[in-house]
Amino acid sequence: MSAKCPDECPRKFVVGGNWKMNGSKKQIDEIISFLKAGPLDSNTEVVVGVPAVYLEYVRNNLPANIGVAGQNCYKEEKGAFTGEVSPLMLKDINVDWVILGHSERRQIFKETDDLIADKVAFALEKGLKVIACVGETLEQRESGKTEEVVFAQTQAIASKLKDWTNVVIAYEPVWAIGTGKTATPQQAQDVHKALREYIAKNIGADIAKSIRIQYGGSVTGANCVELAAMPDIDGFLVGGASLKPEFVNIVNARQ
Ligand code: PEP
Repeated sequence: MSAKCPDECPRKFVVGGNWKMNGSKKQIDEIISFLKAGPLDSNTEVVVGVPAVYLEYVRNNLPANIGVAGQNCYKEEKGAFTGEVSPLMLKDINVDWVILGHSERRQIFKETDDLIADKVAFALEKGLKVIACVGETLEQRESGKTEEVVFAQTQAIASKLKDWTNVVIAYEPVWAIGTGKTATPQQAQDVHKALREYIAKNIGADIAKSIRIQYGGSVTGANCVELAAMPDIDGFLVGGASLKPEFVNIVNARQ
């Protein structure tokens, strides 16, 4: 069965690139060139997460079929929040997406489940689409807490949301991010399936069916096809490899 058939596969594959705090105008021009050259599978939605200072430049230089995401935004419209970016500012420069709750924000910047939930709710209210990241640390996995952690992070967001239409969840095991250690396709599938079942039971059966769950953590051109073949993996969030031409292969991973 081809996963590309829209009837068999109601959830459109979605691949995000998270450039993190990387890039210069020169490097970004190179990335824009390989993204434009593609070819990118038209059955896949593509979004790139760009450092704040380059967002407008990238939005103005990429074709409209490639989405652009902020890597963070705050839970207020404006005011005395030095260093923060408002969702209204992203909208003002035609940026339609934001990545929230990335593990680097959680771990390095001490963002809590509660703050992340507030940010997700506020960004959605202001008309952004959100990639909301969840995932366990190595210690949590080794102590058998993967599902507990991922469910709790998702529930924190659910408690502040009415509508999940514009949300993509990125399941990103922290131990796999930037480490070269990818979850096996089965490990990733197990968590995605369990999370979808949790959502069906606790948030809504229709939401569980339609919500797209990306896998993130050392995805490369070499491992993406096997991961993309898993029934509950609806796309990827890609860090390091999104800066390289192999990102095109990752976008095209679904066979
Ligand atoms: C990420 O930054 O979300 C990520 C998954 O990084 P990497 O692909 O480099 O592991």
